[in-house]
Amino acid sequence: MNSSLEVDVVIVGGGPGGLSAAKILAERGARVLILEANAEIGSPTRTTGGTFIRDAVELDIPPQLYHPLKRGRMHSAHRVVAREYDPPFACILNVRAVFQFLAERAIDAGAILRMSTTATDVLIENGMVAGVHAKDVRGDELLIRARLTIDATGYRATLSKRAGIHAGFNRFGVGAEYDMYAPHYEESETVGIVGSAFAPAGYAWTAPYGNHRVRVGVGIIHGDSKENPRDYLDKFVENAHAFNINLRGAQPLEYHYGLIPSDGLAKKFVGSGILAVGDAAGQPSALLGEGIRWAMRGGMMAGQIAAEALNANDVSENFLARYEQQWRKQYGKNLRIAALINKRIAGWNDAQWDEGIELLDHLTAQQFGEAMASNFVSSWTLLALAGNPKLLRKSLGLVKETLRAK
Ligand SMILES: Cc1cc2nc3c(=O)[nH]c(=O)nc-3n(C[C@H](O)[C@H](O)[C@H](O)COP(=O)(O)OP(=O)(O)OC[C@H]3O[C@@H](n4cnc5c(N)ncnc54)[C@H](O)[C@@H]3O)c2cc1C
Repeated sequence: MNSSLEVDVVIVGGGPGGLSAAKILAERGARVLILEANAEIGSPTRTTGGTFIRDAVELDIPPQLYHPLKRGRMHSAHRVVAREYDPPFACILNVRAVFQFLAERAIDAGAILRMSTTATDVLIENGMVAGVHAKDVRGDELLIRARLTIDATGYRATLSKRAGIHAGFNRFGVGAEYDMYAPHYEESETVGIVGSAFAPAGYAWTAPYGNHRVRVGVGIIHGDSKENPRDYLDKFVENAHAFNINLRGAQPLEYHYGLIPSDGLAKKFVGSGILAVGDAAGQPSALLGEGIRWAMRGGMMAGQIAAEALNANDVSENFLARYEQQWRKQYGKNLRIAALINKRIAGWNDAQWDEGIELLDHLTAQQFGEAMASNFVSSWTLLALAGNPKLLRKSLGLVKETLRAK
């Protein structure tokens, strides 16, 4: 059976980007409908949930939904760097609980959430996006007319591609991960492993999120390598003890697999009647393959401008471009540097990684944390470079590339 409905804004995708946009828009009085293809918010999980405590606080994520980390350690083939944090700097989210919390906030604000419903195409009228075609769980067709459409479909960027805003992504971080019950794992520490043995063109990680649960994964950049991270995951688990990672008695309870775009920002992320947020806009930081806080910020910023566009009765590309300009101004430089670093280190061999880890060992705990958080355009960077001539020499090429890529 075919049916149709009309709203102010249809948001396609119930991830952190879409749910954050929904809350802002509904709070500002818009009639908001969120479509989510899956039958459950935050499941199946495709993300490790690593983020930074100051962002979690700014984004109002309740502290009981994340696990603080006091120590970070990174290994290459022959080197290691470790830093202690008191108070903790990074954390691991209870991903499903956080995404469901975001859904609850959007619902409280007045948004309607429709699960098991997949947008199949954009509706184009008079040269602009005027809603979406969708299918529900029974396969029934739905036509949803909306003054504004938000593409929050994640790495697929389905609607952006259909609307011709951008062509999608070429380079992806592909991750395979076990969510393990690990009774003896040291829960205050996260560990990263780089190098050809466990993660060619990527890295392996352990990410504890409390109650003896640890996400253990391998991510590889496809585009730079054809290796399958799954092939390295069991090898990493078997050899974890070599890195002082205690997985004695540990067993996987869940297996996760997912993609994250690693090209950097999409060339364009608005069109007439449509905005893209989060992974669909290429907003994650490619440095670590980390996009939850960025998707939330993207959703909030897009939601704010979208609400202004509805009030002004102007959903033209020209009006919506304010969102893209604001995003590029606020985050563009850091994200560009993150993408450039990621592209460069994805090609490193083991000797280059050893040298890279040695350079990182010149950073203080705070500087190391800021670098991991992709916060490059900041006073700490200048201080760190001024104090480390070798680091400065190594970074100059990157500075030139960043300026050229402007
Ligand atoms: C292995 C792995 C590990 C990661 N680890 C981290 C990490 O530690 N920290 C971090 O911050 N980020 C991490 N990320 C990235 C992070 O998960 C994403 O950047 C973030 O989830 C992006 O949010 P989003 O809302 O843009 O998209 P998503 O979270 O991907 O949400 C998109 C939603 O849209 C739905 N959808 C898609 N198409 C349709 C459609 N046509 N109709 C209806 N619904 C649709 C999907 O089902 C999904 O629920 C990781 C990613 C991977 C793959």
